[in-house]
Amino acid sequence: MQYDVITLFPGIIEDYCSYSIMKRGVESGIISVNTVNPRDFTHDKHRRVDDTPYGGSSGMVLMAPPVFEAYESIEKLDNSEFIMLTPQGEPYNQKIAKELSSKSQLILLCGRYEGFDERIRLGLHPREISLGDYVLTGGELGALCIMDSVSRHLDGFLNKEESSLNDSFSEELEGRLEHPQYTKPQEYRGMKVPEVLLNGNHAEIAKFRHEQQILRTKIRRPDLME
Ligand code: SAM
Repeated sequence: MQYDVITLFPGIIEDYCSYSIMKRGVESGIISVNTVNPRDFTHDKHRRVDDTPYGGSSGMVLMAPPVFEAYESIEKLDNSEFIMLTPQGEPYNQKIAKELSSKSQLILLCGRYEGFDERIRLGLHPREISLGDYVLTGGELGALCIMDSVSRHLDGFLNKEESSLNDSFSEELEGRLEHPQYTKPQEYRGMKVPEVLLNGNHAEIAKFRHEQQILRTKIRRPDLME
């Protein structure tokens, strides 16, 4: 999977991808991360990427020319998807993460300030994705959330112990939340690990976990049960 991130702050993307499992994914070649800065595609001496909105109002708007040129500089692979991070897009979820993991390239466009000149959307036709109904300062966190969650579905990205098979929202759990997990010690401050998890009876353990998944989902996310 090739990730190309169009951002005014490449360091945010590069830094996150230099830790833990993302770092290992880059080193093993399962994912590849490239950043493109619209500021490198300006043609004035101040390297301006934003300007005041026509019609007046507060804040600055990202200009179309440097974003168009940054996008056009990226080599497009077959089976590529172009995504704009925006609070006005389709709400992101695990289903979309799984779907995007079948692509060979994701080009992720991060906004800043008051957002994008509308002609970026009209001229480049990105798929618009939102992280949720709140407003962030920039699109980088959104791009990283997509990169991280998509990568978890790629073959070999997670090792056996880290498997995403029983994750909340997964197909394996039919969209339910995961059951509660316990590790050592067996007792801590009076709180004991449920007996059923200690008896080695796999059928009983599976039944307990299944019941817990349903209970949790009913209480915490009744919308998922529907
Ligand atoms: N004025 C814009 C609006 O009301 O729709 C919001 C601009 S926001 C301050 C700056 C940038 O952060 C956006 O262009 C987008 O790339 C990113 N961003 C903010 N909230 C987001 C969200 N919920 N999902 C995805 N990206 C978001």
